[in-house]
Amino acid sequence: MYDVQENLREVLDSLPAGVKLVAISKYHPNEYIEAAYAMGQRIFGESHEQELREKHTTLPQDIEWHFIGHLQTNKVKYIAPYVSMVEAVDSLKLLREIEKQAAKCGRVINVLLELHIAEEATKYGLTLDQCRELLAGGEWRQMSHVRICGLMMMASNVDDEQQIANEFDIAARFFDEVKAAYFADDDNFCERSWGMSDDYPIAVAHRSTMVRIGTRIFGPRVY
Ligand SMILES: *Cc1c(COP(=O)(O)O)cnc(C)c1O
Repeated sequence: MYDVQENLREVLDSLPAGVKLVAISKYHPNEYIEAAYAMGQRIFGESHEQELREKHTTLPQDIEWHFIGHLQTNKVKYIAPYVSMVEAVDSLKLLREIEKQAAKCGRVINVLLELHIAEEATKYGLTLDQCRELLAGGEWRQMSHVRICGLMMMASNVDDEQQIANEFDIAARFFDEVKAAYFADDDNFCERSWGMSDDYPIAVAHRSTMVRIGTRIFGPRVY
């Protein structure tokens, strides 16, 4: 097996106190997750509903599963009973569906709003203006089964570290704007989910509170 435990130890040692690790286990087998679990890791991230369902059913029930991928509204009902956080809410429509399904389960589901700051057209997420619009609309205030806990984003997949740093910086400043405008009195709104295997040290330097790391822990994914 890939040196999951050694890699996990190195990653954890490199994170400052207060930065949470979401171990991104998509496409990796249960035994890799169990190896990380044995070291105390409890937060794992997946991006496909079916794969997550299988893992959730077969792995320890105290794992906190984060859904990190693009979530189709018709899949929300399957993960609503157990998912711990939906990290990539990119539309009001999706937020409404999470509210509806969480209400059916009698749960409150933690969510992050996903920002699109990267230059790649392929990435999902709300532009800063779309995010402002969603929050200004105020409908979310009536949603008692979703808890907006912060923002999530992916930087551009480029070598230019300055560009990556700039994108994290834009996200961090936007967090402050939104926090002040809508969540000043809400301690739940505190998460800045940015940083992956290749860029997490830069993300942490730009106020990330939650890094999503897969390859650096579990090795290359076999699709
Ligand atoms: C796959 C994925 C990650 C992890 O990427 P690595 O480069 O393997 O660390 C992080 N965030 C999202 C949204 C992902 O889809």
